[in-house]
Amino acid sequence: MPKRPTSILDELGIAAGNVLDAAAGAFTPTVRLGVTGLSRAGKTIFITALVDNLIEGGRLPLFSPLAEGRLIAARLAEQPDDAVPRFAYEKHLADLTGPDPRWPDSTRRISQLRLELKFSSNAWHAGFTGPQTFNLDIVDYPGEWLLDLPLLGKTFAEWSADEFAAAETPPRDALARDWLAATAAADPLAEAGEPAAEALAKAFTAYLLACRADEHALSTLPPGRFLMPGDLEGSPALTFAPLPDPDGPVRSSTLYAMLERRFEAYKSVVIRPFFRDHFARLDRQVVLVDALAALNAGPRAMADLEAALADILRAFRPGALNLVTNVFARRIDRILFAATKADHLHHTAHDRLEAILGRLVASAAARAKFAGAETRSLALAAIRATTEGTVQQDGAALPCIVGTPRAGETLEGETYDGETEIAFYPGDLPKSPDALFEAEAAGAALKFLRFVPPEPDPETPGLPHIRLDRALEFLIGDKMR
Ligand code: GDP
Repeated sequence: MPKRPTSILDELGIAAGNVLDAAAGAFTPTVRLGVTGLSRAGKTIFITALVDNLIEGGRLPLFSPLAEGRLIAARLAEQPDDAVPRFAYEKHLADLTGPDPRWPDSTRRISQLRLELKFSSNAWHAGFTGPQTFNLDIVDYPGEWLLDLPLLGKTFAEWSADEFAAAETPPRDALARDWLAATAAADPLAEAGEPAAEALAKAFTAYLLACRADEHALSTLPPGRFLMPGDLEGSPALTFAPLPDPDGPVRSSTLYAMLERRFEAYKSVVIRPFFRDHFARLDRQVVLVDALAALNAGPRAMADLEAALADILRAFRPGALNLVTNVFARRIDRILFAATKADHLHHTAHDRLEAILGRLVASAAARAKFAGAETRSLALAAIRATTEGTVQQDGAALPCIVGTPRAGETLEGETYDGETEIAFYPGDLPKSPDALFEAEAAGAALKFLRFVPPEPDPETPGLPHIRLDRALEFLIGDKMR
């Protein structure tokens, strides 16, 4: 049977990495900012808008170094880590600001970007030292990969049992049929063969993908690399699937033994290196949450998102799971939870969106505080694609948003062409977020459309946003005093 706890060597590896970071950063203070969130939460847009607004000295009135005229320059600098792909900032910005603006490709794997910020300090001794430099290393990675952390504490048999149990509850039960049929047809004690492993992995991945689709919008779908393989697509470490307990002794040449080995390989060659080489080196973290997509899909999706966030945020908690988590949590001292795409709502509804976010991360945030990290929740739009107005409905003036729905979006039987601007009232968010998690409340009349990106505005530098400056102030303002 495979060993459970993470070895002490892992911990030493992390400690050595941290010492190296400290040495490399000895001359220029550096903050490594992790940006995460589940697929389509808005990571790519957040980073692109943040970098653009800093470089352009754009619309950031609540970011103190800019508001106080102390930000001298922000520029892209050379990549700090040779082995990590660069965040494709220029390409993403060109997509958004070109003649025919379009949303850029989303995050598929880890990537990184270094911004060098020059500023004058407002500390009493600043006059003697002159302008200061500070490196902001932004690390973009899929939140799905954090969902893998609990797997480190499970054996193949335990993980399989959990997956089969989860597949019994709606809406998963209906989506799991083909995968469960393929599993029933496989003989765990037969001689191992690649085609059998591939067929099971394929059926299992198809099930996970169906759970994630818009109409269900489920979130707790580990192993994270099955939906976000990064560079590992098709590799043996991803070619496994749960199997029921075999009735009989497991010889090493059986399918069961092979899939169990691969599950263990996934832990050692995929999960642990990610946590050790990347996650453990972060200083600050933004967790982006697309609550609106889950709201569109209903209470089950909301409850599942809550569970996924609790799993994701376990990574920030010391102690409970294993030695490795203990080491990570010590470094991250600020975590921002951000409900993204707030431009889909009128600003009068932003308080309620923040209340929903607060409820989604409540238990997890309490744990992070326990670990010594300061946390904050904020509703924001990294890019604002709408404006605001009012519509008359049954004699009442309702606050609405005005934007151009993307081609193919539908509302009340109408399908939009991506060119037509509409005024739109998405429905009221409830006063108490709890109602959104209760199955009886299903069918609440909420509908959020997706909009095309805003047309570039040559008069104003930086992409338009909502509260990106507040986010930035919390994340790095204290480092630029
Ligand atoms: P990720 O990289 O997978 O986390 O997600 P992206 O950053 O690519 O965002 C996914 C999609 O959400 C984008 O293509 C946009 O359509 C939408 N989106 C993200 N952020 C915003 C925002 O601030 N406002 C609006 N209106 N849409 C957004």
